[in-house]
Formats: sequence, C-alpha cells, structure tokens
Amino acid sequence: MSLIVQKYGGTSVGNTERINSVAKRILETQRAGHQVVAVVSAMAGVTNRLIEMANEVSPDNEPTDREMDVLLATGEQTTIALTSMAINAMGGKAISLTGAQAGIVTDGDHTKARISNITPDEVHRLLDENHIVILAGFQGRSPDGRITTLGRGGSDLTAIAMAAAIDADLCQILTDVDGVYTCDPRVVPKARKIDEISYDEMLEMASSGSKVMQSRSVEFAKKFGVKFEVRSSLNENPGTIVTEEHPNMESVVVRGVSIEREQAKVTIENVSDEPGVAAKIFHAISDSGVVIDMIVQNVSKTNQTDISFTLHRSDLKKAKQTIDPILKDLGNESSIETTDGIGKLSVVGIGMRSHSGVAAQMFAALANNGINIQMISTSEIKTAVIIKEEDLEQSANIVHSAFNL
Ligand code: ASP
Ligand code: MG
Repeated sequence: MSLIVQKYGGTSVGNTERINSVAKRILETQRAGHQVVAVVSAMAGVTNRLIEMANEVSPDNEPTDREMDVLLATGEQTTIALTSMAINAMGGKAISLTGAQAGIVTDGDHTKARISNITPDEVHRLLDENHIVILAGFQGRSPDGRITTLGRGGSDLTAIAMAAAIDADLCQILTDVDGVYTCDPRVVPKARKIDEISYDEMLEMASSGSKVMQSRSVEFAKKFGVKFEVRSSLNENPGTIVTEEHPNMESVVVRGVSIEREQAKVTIENVSDEPGVAAKIFHAISDSGVVIDMIVQNVSKTNQTDISFTLHRSDLKKAKQTIDPILKDLGNESSIETTDGIGKLSVVGIGMRSHSGVAAQMFAALANNGINIQMISTSEIKTAVIIKEEDLEQSANIVHSAFNL
C-alpha cells in the first residue's frame, strides 16, 4: 500500500460531469489498495469570476486582501464538497478538508501567503480510518486564524507541500495535458512528451513561457526533494517525472524549447556612462511595479551608452511613463525608444553545462532561415533570444529540429 497525493486542476473539475470522473478516478486509486489525498482546484473560471465580482462591488477602491482571500477560498471549498459528495455517492468514503482544517499554516501575507508549516494530524487520522481526504488547494490559515491564499495556481503548492508533510510515496499533478512537452505542441506539431525533467529545467521552461505549473511549487518541490509526476486526468498515459537531476540527464543537451509572445523592448539611448545610471533606471522601474526580463547595456566608446530591457507588452506604456520624467537625469542627450511585436525563444537543458556550442548551433539554425536576432541572454542552462514575434512559431520549429528533439 502506498500513500498517494493527487492534484486535479480547474479544467479537470470544470463541471459536475468532470467532477464525477475525477471522483471515480480517485476511488479507483484507493480501491487499488492505496491511501489517497486528493487536492482540488476551483472549477475552471471560478477564481477569475470571483475576482471580477470583487471589482464590481468595489469599483473605486481595491477590496482588502483579507476579504479577497475569504472570497477566493470559496472556489476550492465548492470543489472539495462536490468531489466528496460524488465519491460518497459512488459508495466510497470521502471527507473534505479546507486548508486550515488540514493544518496548513501560512504567513499573514494575504493573496500570496507562504506556507510556514503543516501539522497533518487530521489528515493522518482520516486516512487511518480509510477515508479518502479531499483537500482544498490554494488556501491555508495565518497563525491568528485568518483565511489566506497562496497565489494564483497555488493548488499545485498545496499538493507538493502536503506530499512533503505526510511523506507521500507519490505525488501526481493531474491536468489537461499529458505532461511537459519539448515545446508547445500547438506551435511545434513534432513536440513530444518529456519522460523525465529536472526541477531546474522545469523552472527555466516555466520562466520562459512553458507554464504547466506554478513556479513556486516547483521551487518548493526542489527544496524539499519532492519527486512528482505531471500527467493527464483525461487518460491513463504516463506523464512527466519531475525530479532531482542525475548524471544520465546530462546526455541530453537541450531538453526543451519555449516561447514567450507579446514581449516589448525599451531602449534608452545616450545615457551617461557613470555609476548610478542603471540603478536610477531600474529603481524607478521596480517602484512602478513593472517586471522586466532581459537587460542589455552596450559597450561605451564616448562616455555614453545605450541600455535596453524587455518586458511584457502590457507594461510598455507604464515603463515609458516611468522613464520619461527622469530621462534628463540619465544624460544630456538621452532619449527613449520602444518596440513591441517581439517575442522570446529559449532553449533549456542542464546538459548545456557540460556541452559547448549550443548557442552557436541555435544561432546558426536561425541564421540559415533568415531570422534576425535582436537580443541574446544566457544562463547556465538556458540560451534565449529576442526575435520578431511573427517569426516565433517558425523559429521554434527550426530550433526544435536543429536539436533533434
Ligand atoms: N483556483 C486558484 C487559481 O485559479 C488556484 C489554482 O487553481 O491552483 O489560481
Ligand atoms: Mg489552476
């Protein structure tokens, strides 16, 4: 007998028919001889609808984060009750628990709380009595008893953290795709499911656009060594195992390709080449809440230089409005130029640490097809380029083939 944590995302429990199939699957897992804790998300679209309603009742000021969490936690609370009812109607024995009831304690940072500890006594007690535990994802309670939520996509974190707390034998993230792919199959038809991927690769893929799971939960899994599987709730296909890296993994140089659309670029030209200028720019940007990605500063020949950075297109206006008033402090002749219609293409793989020539091979493949590279950035396990957005899909296919993925 093993102890299994399963997590079903919003699409998997998107309507009552799907809840019934999920209930059946959970029950079958238990009947196969296992103890099961099933973490469920809010039904697809519900969290977004709740946020919309919050804005409708407080159009002129932001609702308090405390009330936001009381509201958002109801999404998952609906699903745990319905899932338990469905299992019980099938003759199983299920009990629902909210995050707080399951002993999940977080800090008090509403809407993005961090789990501080889990006391899973109640979970163990119910499992020992042969119950299936249906646990609300995405929520916990602060030390003083307030309802908290863990940030969008936080049900993944609930599953990983609970798996760590009860020392589960297996943690399965059941979703609407078969696993993690070498690239988005809608973009690259030849993309295939990856059997095994390291935490770091998964994190890099997510940060460059291939979002299968909340990044925070992958970080948590890495920190606590929770091995997990991402697989489909709609079929029985084996999924992708996400785990610690091991030497065999390095034989594959590139694990996957990811793309990020709707990027934009800000270039500030002719800024003074002296200490404090970059700090000024990026302080202002960070104070405005805009998240930036790549930063490139040119070599300076005349005591002036150019600084470019990329960001999501939706933040472009705000970034420009932030820089405009400080432009004159950056240099006598400085000016700002913005470009949208660009995107990011990345290749990721821990094998890059021990293999050279990955960047060269990627750039050559793009060059042979007449694709111009506007910016480049690298990390130990990633090479990323900024290109025209209209070239992204073709480029993803080119690079995917170049590395024989
Ligand atoms: N319901 C929450 C959200 O939509 C949490 C989750 O689905 O993981 O972000
Ligand atoms: Mg979700």
